[in-house]
Order: sequence, then C-alpha cells, then structure tokens
Amino acid sequence: MSVTAQSVWNNCLKFIKDNIQPQAYKTWFEPIKAVKLTDKALSIQVPSKFFYEWLEEHYVKVLKVALTKELGENAKLVYIIKMENTYGNKQPFTEKIPSSNRTAVKSQDVDIPFNNKNPELKNPFVIPGIRNVKIESQLNPNYNFENFLEGDSNRLARSAGLAVAAKPGGTSFNPLLIFGGVGLGKTHLAHAIGVDIKDKYPEKTVLYISAEKFTQQYIDSVKKNNRNDFIHFYQIIDVLIIDDVQFLSGKTGTQDVFFHIFNHLHQNGKQVILTSDKAPVDMQDIEQRLLSRFKWGLSAELQSPDFETRVSILKNKLYRDGVEMPEEIIAYVAKNIKTNIRELEGAIISLIAQSSFNKKEVNIELAKQVVEKFVKNTKREVSIDYIQKVVSDYFQMDIDTLQSKTRKRHIVQARQLAMFFAKKLTKASLASIGSQIGKRDHATVLHACKTVDNLSSTDKQFKKYVEDLSKKLSV
Ligand code: ADP
Ligand code: MG
Repeated sequence: MSVTAQSVWNNCLKFIKDNIQPQAYKTWFEPIKAVKLTDKALSIQVPSKFFYEWLEEHYVKVLKVALTKELGENAKLVYIIKMENTYGNKQPFTEKIPSSNRTAVKSQDVDIPFNNKNPELKNPFVIPGIRNVKIESQLNPNYNFENFLEGDSNRLARSAGLAVAAKPGGTSFNPLLIFGGVGLGKTHLAHAIGVDIKDKYPEKTVLYISAEKFTQQYIDSVKKNNRNDFIHFYQIIDVLIIDDVQFLSGKTGTQDVFFHIFNHLHQNGKQVILTSDKAPVDMQDIEQRLLSRFKWGLSAELQSPDFETRVSILKNKLYRDGVEMPEEIIAYVAKNIKTNIRELEGAIISLIAQSSFNKKEVNIELAKQVVEKFVKNTKREVSIDYIQKVVSDYFQMDIDTLQSKTRKRHIVQARQLAMFFAKKLTKASLASIGSQIGKRDHATVLHACKTVDNLSSTDKQFKKYVEDLSKKLSV
C-alpha cells in the first residue's frame, strides 16, 4: 500500500466526514481501504459489490468533490471489490486489455471517470438509486416469447432462444447468432430472450443494444479518452445482446473492441446473443477472427413464415387488439404478404385503422387496396445481395464469378449491371455498393453506372439486358 494513496484518501475522508451523517460515515467509509494511487486514479477497496453500488448511488457526488479537491479535474476513482466468491475458481479478468488500473486477480475493478459533468452517469444506462439494478436492460417487454409465434420458419431459432434463456452462458449456444431477412423477427426474438432471462434471473445484468448504438458509444469513448471505461462497462454484463451486427462491417475499430469484449465475456461464461441480416459466411468486411468467434456457438436462421404461421401471427395480433375480422380477409392478407412479418402486421393495422376511421366493414375490397399499397411500397426495397443473385442467375454465373477480379468482358458487364441496379434500387452509397460487389471502390461503381447508361443507348443487346433485369428486379 503506498503512502500517497493513504494520505490522499485520508484527506478525502476528512472532507466526507464533515459532509455526511456520522453513522453513514462509520458504515460506508470506515471499512474502505485505500490501495493504490497511479497518476490521477485512486484505487479503493470495498468489501462487496453491494457496497460499491451503495456508494455509487448515495455518495458519488461527495466522493467526486473530495477527490477532485485532492487530485484535480481528471481525478478517477477505481473500486476494487473483494470478490464474493461468485466466480468460483475462475479468474474474472484474464484478457489482456490495456488498463493502467488492473489489480489483483481476485478483484473486480470498476472505473468511475470523474471528468464529465454527470459523474454518476458514467454510461447512459447506469441509473442511480436502485439497489442491484445498475444497468437498465433496454429491453422491450412487448417483445416476449409469448407473442413470438412458433412455426417451421423459426422453430430452431426459437427453441435455441428458449434454451439460452433457461441457462444463460450455460449452453453450447454461445454466442447465439440469429440471422435472417428484414422484418422476420430477429429483434423481437433477441428481446424475448433477454426478457425471459430477466424474469428468471432478476439479478443478472442484461443489456440489449443495437450495433449502431454500440459503435456510436465506442466512438464517443475514444473521443472522450475513456475507451477503457467503455470496455469495463461491457465486461461486467452477464447477458449481452447486440442487434444487427452486420452494421459493424468495415468498422475495424469497433470490431476490435467488440472482439476483446466478446472474448472476455465468453471466457467468463457470460452469454452473448447477436442478430444479423446475413449468415456468417455471407458477412462482408467483418474480420475473420470475429467471424470465427461467431461460429463458436449456434447460428440459427429465421426464414420467411409459411402460410399457416402468417395466419396465426395475424390472428394473434387481432386477438391482442381485441378486433374481430372475417376469416377470408385474414387469409387474403396472409396469402399476399409473404416475406416480411413487419409488413404483415402493418397491413393488418392499417386495415383496422381504415375500417374504424371510415366506419366501414372490412371487406375484401378494402383488404385488396391495403395489401396493394403495402406490396407496391415495398417493391423497391431490394438488397444488394438480391441484385447480385438476380444478375448472376440471369447470366448463368455464380456470385463469386460476378465479384471476381477477372477482366473478361461478359463478367465485367454483369458486374457493372449489378452495380448500376444497386445504385438505382437501393439507398446504399457508391462506396458501400463497391465494397459489397467484389470489394471495388466508389470510382469503379460510378464508372460502371456511366458505362451502363452509355451502352444501353448504343448497344441493342445490352439494352435488352437492362430491360430484362429491370423486370426481374421489380419483384
Ligand atoms: P427484424 O429485426 O428481423 O427486422 P422484427 O423483430 O423487428 O424483425 O419483427 C418485425 C415485426 O414482426 C415485429 O413487430 C415483430 O413483433 C413481428 N414478428 C416477427 N416474428 C414474429 C413471430 N414469430 N410472431 C409474432 N410476431 C412476430
Ligand atoms: Mg431488427
């Protein structure tokens, strides 16, 4: 124990003693030991996690003021918690993450940065004041298993989800990766697992976050120079749910930090749940080492629901909303909206609304109008993958050939057509189109678009390609 740590802490204690009730001082401050002082970080040892939480909830302000007086604006407090044997023989921190504050193996460090305006809100999810609930889960209780209807299309993913919820971190489904197209229930299922875990294990720290928000937080932490706090925050989570990990593609910094967090959680038997719009094999611009981690557990696909499942989803929705609707209308909607559950729900909601606004019976005519609108509105929503598939099928080559580096004329043309349609039919940037179609840059895509424009006005055969493909791609 260094003399300086002790003297700094003694000064803090003097100030704290003057500012809180004597009994509170005795209970909460006398048992604390000052352990270490490095630069502007004072490490104190507290007897338990509960102790630390209590300090955080009730005394963080006075601690901040005291410490800032002693060490200046950038003062940091590091809690070292004597482990309450929750880890058994496992060593809680074995990953080599650069941290100046790492201490003894059987202890848990929690950095509290004091250099921001709201010291107790070291992360947007930390809510002070409630014992044991430090991190708000960000879960949506309306997305639960009960209203996630089962069908052939989701059976595997759903039961894997249930297994994980029954024994988080204790199955071989770790990570559990749920993948599938837009609107097929990835987000719903991911929440349902979290909600169920919270139900069964209220003491577990569960966090749901989109990959996009995770990335944003990471970027902020780098800007504010507290990358370590960011990492530590994620390392104390028991069940981490990251939605839409495909968003990490091309973002090497975030991938890197996620890799470390993932390893740490995995090693410590914590559960990781991921969703993605693609299977791991089809993910582009995700580092190999991360992809290989994704494959450690189980990848379960959500497919488009079959007719029966679509009908039961609709009926369930109507039942929950207390609305009755003729069977034939339900069947009509289910028959015509096939690939996307979000749209299926959208259509039925709009049908309910239409009928109640206009005080009209819901008849097949109305259903037709609504469904048509939905089907029309979504026509243009094709993915770049889908475009590549259609184009390569059309020219009878596989996607790898389409993306290859070859300069053979017909392959180059096919690739240019894929780029042209990707630009025309999606909102993706030139750069992102390029990276998805054979890892080309934005200039190549721009050139491709111009070439297709030119050729289709000068070359009859080429014009026919464009017309045929337009038809095929307009669903
Ligand atoms: P994704 O994240 O895959 O794009 P969502 O999870 O947002 O899809 O699902 C879209 C909508 O469809 C949500 O309102 C969700 O509640 C609903 N949904 C998806 N799958 C099911 C299911 N099996 N049963 C009931 N509702 C579902
Ligand atoms: Mg989603």
